[in-house]
Amino acid sequence: MIDSHCHLADDAFAADLAEVAARAQAAGVESALCILSADHEAEIGRAAAVKTAWPGVRFAAAIHPHRAGAYAGRVPEAARVAEASARAVDAAAVGEIGLDYHYDFAPKDVQRDVFAAQVEVAVALGRPVVVHTRLATDDTMAVLREAGSGRVRGVMHCFSGTLPEARLALDLGFYISLSGILTFPKAGDLRDMARQLPADRLLVETDAPFLAPVPHRGKRNEPAWVRSTLETLAAVRQTAVADLAQQVRLNFFAFLGVPGTAAHAGGPQTRVDTPPTPMV
Ligand SMILES: [Zn+2]
Ligand SMILES: [Zn+2]
Repeated sequence: MIDSHCHLADDAFAADLAEVAARAQAAGVESALCILSADHEAEIGRAAAVKTAWPGVRFAAAIHPHRAGAYAGRVPEAARVAEASARAVDAAAVGEIGLDYHYDFAPKDVQRDVFAAQVEVAVALGRPVVVHTRLATDDTMAVLREAGSGRVRGVMHCFSGTLPEARLALDLGFYISLSGILTFPKAGDLRDMARQLPADRLLVETDAPFLAPVPHRGKRNEPAWVRSTLETLAAVRQTAVADLAQQVRLNFFAFLGVPGTAAHAGGPQTRVDTPPTPMV
């Protein structure tokens, strides 16, 4: 299994990171994309400890839209910080970046400028983007389209939109990552949407420590629990959990543009032999 989005360097895991990482690996979670806040010194500093506790982890770093307000009037500084942190942790992706008009912690125009600047960082580094968008589909897609179709690749993380909204992202070549929200009783519309997504664009995530899936809802989330979301997605799509896990694994390494490790033993394909973009 793969957890395509978690925050293992968050304060919430500072006390028991090794145990959390051990439980994930024991549960069969081969790799995870650990999202780092590029301008959060403690998080960037903990990246090495995360890698030690769980060598299969890969990193993404950037300025989250919630923190974009600090860069009003100095957007190039946001790009500089994002790039420096991404390089420092050998990031496989740039993220999470995007627009959040629900919490609205930063002015919308500043969020858009910081988002667009970091998309360019990803292009320059040859990395995919991890996009966070909330109540901001139109503006998010506009920024990605303006950056140029084919130049930017990435994932819409914690996707909870409609099928037409998913299609906008799919048309840009993006992956769709589903979180524990998929397991919530009231998420029938999301499950209907997830049933119709193309198999080769699916990812699953925990967004730990947030959004714990059923039956852990309300607790601190952790990567081992990505299984609940995977199982729900498999049930919805009427496919075997092992087959879906293998598909998601291939999707994850294709999304990152890197060959997977050969650790997997459950399916006919054990490696991504022809990654779409060579690792730089
Ligand atoms: Zn997010
Ligand atoms: Zn997140």
